[in-house]
Amino acid sequence: AANLVKIYQNGSEELKVLDDVSIQVYDGDFMAVLGPSGSGKSTLMNILGCLDIPTAGEYYLDGLNVLTATENELAEIRNRKIGFIFQKFNLLPRLTALQNVMLPLLYRGMDEGEAGELARGKLTLLGLGERLGHRPNELSGGQQQRVAIARAIVGNPELLLADEPTGNLDSKSSEDAMRIFRELNEQGNTIVIITHDVEVADQVKKLVYIRDGKLYENN
Ligand code: ATP
Ligand code: MG
Repeated sequence: AANLVKIYQNGSEELKVLDDVSIQVYDGDFMAVLGPSGSGKSTLMNILGCLDIPTAGEYYLDGLNVLTATENELAEIRNRKIGFIFQKFNLLPRLTALQNVMLPLLYRGMDEGEAGELARGKLTLLGLGERLGHRPNELSGGQQQRVAIARAIVGNPELLLADEPTGNLDSKSSEDAMRIFRELNEQGNTIVIITHDVEVADQVKKLVYIRDGKLYENN
């Protein structure tokens, strides 16, 4: 993605949140974007995940020009290739932990039995084997975050976009999550972690910094 600009328009006020950001993510990367609150990290993730479009710039994802792609093409990419861990989890409140994690698989047309097995496996891996039937509001923040992680990785996405994935986790769960990400990356999956946690940033192979909407390779 090159020369990305994102301007939010609030009434007559314009807020330039991304200012000529260029970022290259290669297959197999294990990358972190580190920056303070309000620096534009979530905005960048939404653009990389094809959930939002930049005000200006170019973005090619696996050769597809994202800015001219149809909504169907983008939905297909999001469903098949990208796993999202949202900063605010975005779990569906009426569904149980298990059902939330099954959802991306059902979207892809997998049958319920197989989806249930895979979802159960991931939740167990994340220490939530005893919480399968709980709804999000019956879970702690850290548990909800782990459900969100399970949902993002259950479909083995080529690209995992993780927005503050350890923000609500204690240090043990945080280490567990980072180990899971590392193992995914060792299997060839591309991972971009958005964070303001220096400990997390220390564990990746490539680190970029964002400050006031500008990207830096080195501080
Ligand atoms: P944090 O670490 O707190 O999550 P962030 O780096 O993810 O911060 P963003 O969420 O990308 O920051 O927000 C960057 C700036 O853009 C902030 O000033 C925010 O208020 C503003 N902003 C974000 N989303 C919108 C929106 N939809 N409309 C208007 N302004 C927005
Ligand atoms: Mg954010």
